[in-house]
Amino acid sequence: KFVVIEGLEGAGKSSAIALVRDFIEKHTGQAPVCTREPGGTPLAEQMRDLVKVANESDPLCDEAECLIFYAARAQLVANVIKPSLAEGKWVLGDRHNLSSLAYQGGGRGLMPLVSSISEATLKGFKPDLTLYLDIDPKLGLARAANRGALDRIEQQELAFFNRTRATFLSYADNDDSIMIIDASQSMAAVHKDIIAVLQDQAW
Ligand code: C5P
Repeated sequence: KFVVIEGLEGAGKSSAIALVRDFIEKHTGQAPVCTREPGGTPLAEQMRDLVKVANESDPLCDEAECLIFYAARAQLVANVIKPSLAEGKWVLGDRHNLSSLAYQGGGRGLMPLVSSISEATLKGFKPDLTLYLDIDPKLGLARAANRGALDRIEQQELAFFNRTRATFLSYADNDDSIMIIDASQSMAAVHKDIIAVLQDQAW
């Protein structure tokens, strides 16, 4: 199975991933293969650096950013995710395609480009379950700023994150494999909701 955790900055993805990882290990007797996007293979990690680090003399244009995210994802799917699933392993993803639909499609306003590359590169491949940790960007960004300096993308204006959040929510509303978790709650309540969703799956 392929399980993915999604959410805006400061939504609590990292602690949710640790929780889901433990659940999968207990459930299957085997630790899942953990991936992160962008990144997760040596080459894809280099692509992550390209999108994360600002270069003032040659700013990354939105289309190039989008193509780099998809190049990194194609690499990860081909060399890690699909081979692991074929061996019967579980894969736990820190972000996947829904992030591109939301950030590049909704946030950057590139939906036609994003949906066509998404179809062309993934050809219908998608997670069995996505947990989307929903948080108001104001709250999430304040949490993220608390834990250190914000990267190039995290420095976007609030409206960018509001568009991104709205896109996450609209995909979740239209896809039964995407579950919305209210990430504005206490960590204990968030974790309780996540476990309830995991226990409710027919696997
Ligand atoms: O998951 P993490 O917070 O490390 O994400 C890395 C950065 O890339 C974040 O700033 C996130 O907003 C951004 N991102 C993006 N589009 C994606 C995936 C991540 O803008 N498709």
